[in-house]
Amino acid sequence: MACTGRFAPSPTGELHLGNLRTALASWLSARARGGRWIIRMEDVDTARCRSSLGDAQLRDLAMLGMESDGPVLWQSRRGGSYQAALQRLFGQGGLYPCICTRKDLAAMASAPHGEDGLRAYPGTCRHRPLPFLRPDALRFRVPEGAVAWDDLLLGPQDDDPALLTGDPLLHRRDGCYAYHLAVVVDDGEQGVDEIVRGQDLRGVTATQVRLQEALGLPRPAYAHLGLVTAPDGSRLGKRDGALGLAMLAHKGIGPELVVGWLGWSLGCLERPEPAAAGDLVAGFRWDRVPPGPVAVPAAWT
Ligand code: GLU
Repeated sequence: MACTGRFAPSPTGELHLGNLRTALASWLSARARGGRWIIRMEDVDTARCRSSLGDAQLRDLAMLGMESDGPVLWQSRRGGSYQAALQRLFGQGGLYPCICTRKDLAAMASAPHGEDGLRAYPGTCRHRPLPFLRPDALRFRVPEGAVAWDDLLLGPQDDDPALLTGDPLLHRRDGCYAYHLAVVVDDGEQGVDEIVRGQDLRGVTATQVRLQEALGLPRPAYAHLGLVTAPDGSRLGKRDGALGLAMLAHKGIGPELVVGWLGWSLGCLERPEPAAAGDLVAGFRWDRVPPGPVAVPAAWT
């Protein structure tokens, strides 16, 4: 099968420079490998996602020269595949119902705290004799032991899912499938063999690898990109105008300059000069991408 990269935004708002940098890195890597690149809309959380926002994200990506090879997949329409995966895990004894409320979870002050603000579920319901009900909150009984992988950007990694996420929720009581399940099932079904995403998601990788193993899916390569920060190195926030293409265009910073700056930040260009995405492919190599955060130019905020 041809190699496949993907960009998988959640349609909850406008894409900001950090998202666009992730999209471009995954696109460049796929193109440099001569592979496919697909876009997937991660809209399982129907309360927070809007298809109109997803459409706007697709327009922004197209404006920078990135379009999905093949139809864009919307997770909200893929319940059948997620249900089948849950059935498989259930058959293996890999699931258990959870009755912890949001309040219970917040009160679990003794829970170990992972990096990236993750709070590991301490497994309270793992040993409770609970019946399976419908609809149910269901957790994955994550197998013990650390997971090692060689990150394309960060090098050798070794994480214990029990410390970072604990047993993740795969199905919510409100009927929604959860992020970990949808992302693993879709990457598997779509043949994605390289996952490029922000370093804020590094801490979920070990858990997702365990879920891939339980579902008999191959393990993709991972690259966790440094985040785009405000000029002073702090996290980009709403006060920075979220730095989307519309706001940048308003300041006279057009798509070619955005692509050129992103390409420079990914090590493809020596200077941040206007460019088209296609111009950057020849200069893209993972060992040229700086692994740390990158600050947005002060003039852009
Ligand atoms: N949908 C996730 C997000 O927008 C990304 C998931 C992933 O890349 O694994 O943060």
